[in-house]
Amino acid sequence: MKLKSIGKVKGLKNKRVLVRVDFNVPLKDGKIEDDYRIKAALPTINYLLTAGAKIILMAHLGEPEGQIVPKLSLKPVAHRLALLLKKPVNFVPETVGYQADKAIKKMVAGDVVFLENLRFNEGEQKDDLKFAKRLAAYGDIYVNEAFSVCHRKQASISAIKKLLPTYYGLELVSEVENLDKILKPVKPLIVIMGGAKISTKAPIISKIYDSADKVLLGGGLANNFFKHLKLEVGKSLVDSDSEVYIKKFFKGKKLADKIVLPLDVIISDKDKQPRIRKVTDVTKFDTILDIGPETIALFSSYIKTAQTIIWNGPLGKFEEGSFKHGTLAIATAVAARSTGKAYGLVGGGETVEALKETKMEMYVDFVSTAGGAMLAYLGGSPMPGLK
Ligand code: ADP
Ligand code: MG
Repeated sequence: MKLKSIGKVKGLKNKRVLVRVDFNVPLKDGKIEDDYRIKAALPTINYLLTAGAKIILMAHLGEPEGQIVPKLSLKPVAHRLALLLKKPVNFVPETVGYQADKAIKKMVAGDVVFLENLRFNEGEQKDDLKFAKRLAAYGDIYVNEAFSVCHRKQASISAIKKLLPTYYGLELVSEVENLDKILKPVKPLIVIMGGAKISTKAPIISKIYDSADKVLLGGGLANNFFKHLKLEVGKSLVDSDSEVYIKKFFKGKKLADKIVLPLDVIISDKDKQPRIRKVTDVTKFDTILDIGPETIALFSSYIKTAQTIIWNGPLGKFEEGSFKHGTLAIATAVAARSTGKAYGLVGGGETVEALKETKMEMYVDFVSTAGGAMLAYLGGSPMPGLK
């Protein structure tokens, strides 16, 4: 998809540029645990500063659902941003209203105003045009630098585009360019999918199925296919309507042609002990929580043949020590193959977390935490933020 980059726009001096950023950082007791999302927007913000624009930032944090929730204030984020930019950031404790009006009116070239959490307002998640108009009044042009919410129909992402000349941030444009490379992948394309739910993963698997050479499945996702094949899954995580998804998205496809399922799994038995089992030996007392060693070897052998790799979704409950080996082994194999021979794309919040545990994320060509938006884009779902 070709997008108009803000990087090509001239004459920004003294222009009020309203920038939608993704600063939805993980917070713990009011402290920012990871600021990579803030850092990702710095190139665009610095570019606008150099161009002499007036920058008005809009962002959301968490799910306050239209209510003012003090612990979801963006104030600590504005503070961190000021440290990173090494310049003052004027945080306004409301999104729209008298104080915001006043702060924006007195801006001069190179000023940064940061508005309070968009989602404190009911209109944001309703894609309300009236709310969008209030936001739009603050800018001369609008820049979207929040790829992770582009699959959502929300006022600061969607409705606002009708009201202001629209451009895209440097990071967002590069994110979309990278995803576009995967739309016409160099073959062989090996897709690895895991994670918890078939409902979010089935649409993308079916979309990518035809161009993929192999689709390796693990995690909770694979359990649904075990069940489909009438294998015992015990107490494992399975979607109640998994058959509906398998029927809908894999109609007319011969699953065995491309889908590779685990040969063995690590289960937690009735005494909560981890054990290796062949997938045909799982009992009704077992919970499948990771892929087993034979599966790691099998999946790695496919990964070694790839020219393009897409990985989304942990292959097990990697948050628990006994069940992280499968995910970390596959993360290592993907990263290693991506250093030289293959183009590697890894996406998804938890998936990237697992990849980071290997300390090999720098070997992967493209790493995206925007799981939902990435899957929506690759799966051909509507992207209200990009239209
Ligand atoms: P991402 O955010 O990377 O797209 P998902 O949200 O789809 O990934 O899924 C991540 C979650 O899936 C992890 O928290 C992991 O614990 C869980 N998971 C993976 N495999 C299993 C399994 N076999 N049983 C239970 N949970 C699993
Ligand atoms: Mg997730």
